[in-house]
Amino acid sequence: MTSPENDDGGWLRRFVAKTLDALRDAWAVLMPVECAGCDSDDRALCAECTRSLVAEPTVHSTPRHVRVFAALYYEGRVRRVVLAFKNHHRTDQARPLARALLPALHRAIEESAASGETEAPVLIVAVPTSKRAFRTRGYHPMSLVLRSAGVRHERVLRATKVTASQKLLSARQRATNVQGAFVATRWLGSARVIIVDDVLTTGATIDEASRAICAAGGTVVAAVTIGFTPRTGASRDNAST
Ligand SMILES: [Zn+2]
Repeated sequence: MTSPENDDGGWLRRFVAKTLDALRDAWAVLMPVECAGCDSDDRALCAECTRSLVAEPTVHSTPRHVRVFAALYYEGRVRRVVLAFKNHHRTDQARPLARALLPALHRAIEESAASGETEAPVLIVAVPTSKRAFRTRGYHPMSLVLRSAGVRHERVLRATKVTASQKLLSARQRATNVQGAFVATRWLGSARVIIVDDVLTTGATIDEASRAICAAGGTVVAAVTIGFTPRTGASRDNAST
């Protein structure tokens, strides 16, 4: 979209990724499926669950004041689709989730362009997962969503440790848990960055990703997530206009 994809792996990596996407889609078509959001038969995503994934972007702020555009409230069908995609190999949900993410991403890009003081390009950077999580899943969830959305993004962050599950932790514990969790893989110079993650809860993960980007010289102009939870802190404004 706004930035060139990292070409380190060249055409072969892109070919393999596109072939895998096609095979996953073919598998979902050939095999009987249940709706990822409600378990009803024969549809990968039923009409009602598809409607529940229509984005209604809202704006939030992390403890360190990164502006976050979230596409959906993370509950019910939305939550089940995201969890099926992340934890149960439902990669056929990458496209519906990509459709949900795009309006929030466009909004973040528009606002960053409007407020930009420089002509530096905006890089789209997904929060990385650990090597262990990648080995378990076989895919990077947010990279797959961005690829399904046709959004070029750069893998400039690397997870440096396996963090404990954030699920039952307080906001302070979450911040401590992710401290030092990411490092930039190269110097970012004057690049402006939009961080992309799956769900905004306390903002600790996005703040840690932001710290790693800033340590490499980059500037975080915004973040975008598929969902936000009731535990999301700080200000919230409707951004659906
Ligand atoms: Zn459904």
